[in-house]
Amino acid sequence: MAKQKVVVTGGAGYIGSHTVVALHEAGFSPVIFDNFSNSKPEVLDGIARIIGEKPQIFEVDCRSKAELAQAIEACASDGQIAGVIHFAAFKAVGESTERPLDYFDNNIGSTVSLLEAMTAAGISNLVFSSSCTVYGQPDAIPVDEQAPILPAESPYGYTKQACERLITDAFNSSMPLSACLLRYFNPIGAHPSAAIGELPLGHPNNLIPYLTQATAGKRGPLTVFGNDYPTEDGTCIRDYIHVMDLARAHVASIHWLLSNPASCEAFNLGTGEGKSVSQVIAAFEKANGIAVPYSFGPRRAGDVTAIFANAGKAERALGWKCELSLEEALRDAWKWQQKLTEG
Ligand code: UDP
Repeated sequence: MAKQKVVVTGGAGYIGSHTVVALHEAGFSPVIFDNFSNSKPEVLDGIARIIGEKPQIFEVDCRSKAELAQAIEACASDGQIAGVIHFAAFKAVGESTERPLDYFDNNIGSTVSLLEAMTAAGISNLVFSSSCTVYGQPDAIPVDEQAPILPAESPYGYTKQACERLITDAFNSSMPLSACLLRYFNPIGAHPSAAIGELPLGHPNNLIPYLTQATAGKRGPLTVFGNDYPTEDGTCIRDYIHVMDLARAHVASIHWLLSNPASCEAFNLGTGEGKSVSQVIAAFEKANGIAVPYSFGPRRAGDVTAIFANAGKAERALGWKCELSLEEALRDAWKWQQKLTEG
C-alpha cells in the first residue's frame, strides 16, 4: 500500500525538519511546504542523510491560498494526504514587537489561507504548532490545558492565541475539521546524528543556541537574564524538551486525528520537569565536559518566572511522553554546534 502523505508547512525549520524525520520513521511520506524565509534549503540534505532520500518539497508562501491549493493538488495527485502539520510562522518574540504587522500577516494570514485550502481540498486533519506562551505566568504550576489563556505579552504570543481561537471557531462551525493544538514548552537539542538541528539566523535569542555559540567562542559570554527571581537559585524555570521527543508527539497527533474524527483538543508538550537557567548551564557542563562562559545580568522584559508542563493529557490521549533526558538534549545540542563550527 502507498504511504500516506503528511503535509508539513515550515518543514525546513527547526521543529519541522525533525518532525519530517519522525514522520518518515513512522511510515508516513512527509511533504514539505516551505518558502525558506527563515530556513535554508541545505536542511533538506541533512534530512536526506538521515532518512536516505530527499523529502518532497513545494516552495510555497503559506499566505497564498492559490499557491497552497496548487501544491496540495499536486501532492494529492499521487497519494492520500492524512493531514497537515502547520509550523510555518515567524517566532521571535522581540522581533514581533518591532514588526507586528509582519507577524499578524504571516502567522494569522497563513493559518486562514491554510484552513481555506484544506477545506477546498477536502482535508480535515490539522496539527497546529502553538506555544506555552499562551498561558503567560500561570497561577499554578505545573500548568495544565485548563489554565486560563492570559493576555499575550507580545504580538508573537498573540498570533498563537489568535490562531488557536481561529482553529477552534472553525471547528465549531460547519467546517469539516479535526485539530490538535500543540502547546510546546522549550524545545532544545538536535537529531543525534547532528545532520539537522537549530539554525538561528543572526543573533540567537533562545537560551540553548546562545549558550552553545558562546561556548564555541562564536559569541561573547552568555548573559543569564536575572538571578533575583523568587526561585531556589534566583534564575527562571522552564521545561526543556528534546526536539526529537517533540517531533514524535506530532506523529502521535496525526495517529490520534486519524482515529478521532471531528475532535479539537489542546495538548501540552513538555517533560513535566522545571529546570532553572543555572541548572541547565551546570547540566550542559557536566554532559559535555566543557565550561560555559557566562555572567549574570539584568532581567529580560517579558520573562515569566517559572513555567513547566503537566503533560498528562498528551500521555493519556496520544500515548506519548518524553523519553529523552535533559543531558541527552544538551549533548545533542553541543554535537550540532560542533558540526556547525567545523562547517
Ligand atoms: N535566557 C538567558 N539568556 C539568554 C537567553 C535566554 O538567561 O541569552 C533565559 C531566559 O531569560 C529564560 C530561559 O533562558 O529564563 C529560556 O529562554 P528562551 O528565550 O530560550 O525561551 P522562553 O522560555 O523565553 O521562550
